[in-house]
Amino acid sequence: MRTDIAAVVVPPGTSLRTALARLDPTGFGVLLAVDGDGRFQRTLTDGDIRRAMLAEATLDTAVDNLPAPKSAPVTAPEGTGGYAARKAMIDAGVQHLPVLDPTGTPVGLYLRKDLDHTVPLSIPHMGEEEQVLIREAFDTNWIAPVGPHVDAFEKELAAKVGAPHAAALSSGTAALHLGLKLLGVRPGDTVFCSSLTFVASVNPVLYEGATPVFIDSEPNTWNMSPAALERALAEAKKTGTLPKAVIVVNLYGQSADFDAIGPLCDAYGVPILEDAAESLGATCGNKASGTLGRLGVYSFNGNKIITTSGGGMLVGDDPDLIARARFLATQGREPALHYQHTTMAYNYRLSNVLAAIGRGQLRVLDDRVRQRRAVFARYAAALGDMPGVDFMPEAAFGSSNRWLTALRVDPNLYTLTGEPLVTALMEDAIEARPVWKPMHAQPLFAGSAYHAHDPDAPVSVADDLFAHGLCLPSGSNMPEADQDRVIDALRARLTAARK
Ligand SMILES: *Cc1c(COP(=O)(O)O)cnc(C)c1O
Repeated sequence: MRTDIAAVVVPPGTSLRTALARLDPTGFGVLLAVDGDGRFQRTLTDGDIRRAMLAEATLDTAVDNLPAPKSAPVTAPEGTGGYAARKAMIDAGVQHLPVLDPTGTPVGLYLRKDLDHTVPLSIPHMGEEEQVLIREAFDTNWIAPVGPHVDAFEKELAAKVGAPHAAALSSGTAALHLGLKLLGVRPGDTVFCSSLTFVASVNPVLYEGATPVFIDSEPNTWNMSPAALERALAEAKKTGTLPKAVIVVNLYGQSADFDAIGPLCDAYGVPILEDAAESLGATCGNKASGTLGRLGVYSFNGNKIITTSGGGMLVGDDPDLIARARFLATQGREPALHYQHTTMAYNYRLSNVLAAIGRGQLRVLDDRVRQRRAVFARYAAALGDMPGVDFMPEAAFGSSNRWLTALRVDPNLYTLTGEPLVTALMEDAIEARPVWKPMHAQPLFAGSAYHAHDPDAPVSVADDLFAHGLCLPSGSNMPEADQDRVIDALRARLTAARK
């Protein structure tokens, strides 16, 4: 709501000349005519004034002497939220909605053009130093995919998360791919992976000609179920098909339960590749998310908590593994002047310019985590009273970065959940998303083995979360007014869908 309306409030006796002069500088496209006591009378647009002058008015005519408008103006009481305001404007076919206090005095103004913009799910949020660091890369002509910012970004990220070694790569997917190679995954091998994730977690398994086996989520963290993993490992041991690696995903910024998963994998001698693409800045116990497996992966894609526009990082304790990652990421070039190669490799290195952005972003990571958590806290406070609306839990063992605020809507209480609810919110110009469609349910992985958290339950945890869950716009740069629109829209949609 615009509250800087003093310039567009015109009292009786104001000439059309003065009114027109007031209209332009605000860009609001509307004036609010009031009576002698400041109470709202009517709206006046450019078109209203032009039509009056074509009839009989002159520039000296007072606004209160114009012919009355054809229909009563549409207004809203004080306290009307953006969502209800947009709906009222759509219903009435108007572009402006004056907001009046109980005495009828205008206190604000909603503009349709402000509210028609879609509230985005998660967009890049730059800090103040990225431009300076990029300029430095240009000034020193380090535009190449090597350079001082790459080295510095690796060191700074490693220090931030407490990982001894880090390799900056072109994407999180590239980091996962190299991670699997470094853990020795070969054609015909099996790799276990969380089912409830983005496809990038698993595509690299296919790159290597290996076979994914999917593990369900547990209700407490929405992440890999230790119970399902334990059964899957025991079964694989019996049939001599133990996996070469387990890809454990930390969904929406919440760490998986490594206190349970780590010892299990250790007991079977299977290394963990931790997909922390969404969880940079989160913790598990006293460790940073991403440092709990043999190797960990971060992503700096455009919608992640910090971004380089595209990029990734592979971290780990073993200097040889990370050195090998750098080697495989730079075409396997051996240290000879004449470009010597004995290994098939990749072009997976992060560029120096993007590393410069990453260094700036890393400096504001703590702010971004705070901001995302604040967005979550506002949602939880505003919607927590609604029965059957359950936010993704935060496990007691650590803290989530709340990359995306995710929630489940109880289908026993509402007729609208999951994807239909997301579609309804899109009509309200809100970019929500369903929870990831589980990998075991994707046509790409049809026929893959899947281990449910509770084998006796009619629906697995991941399938249930996909059917009834959604993610809300959660950007760290999200204005509170946008968030209020999301809150009001969700409440309105669910109230209408209450069983
Ligand atoms: C974003 C994401 C990736 C892939 O990262 P990119 O940098 O986009 O390649 C992998 N896993 C998960 C869970 C992700 O959300």
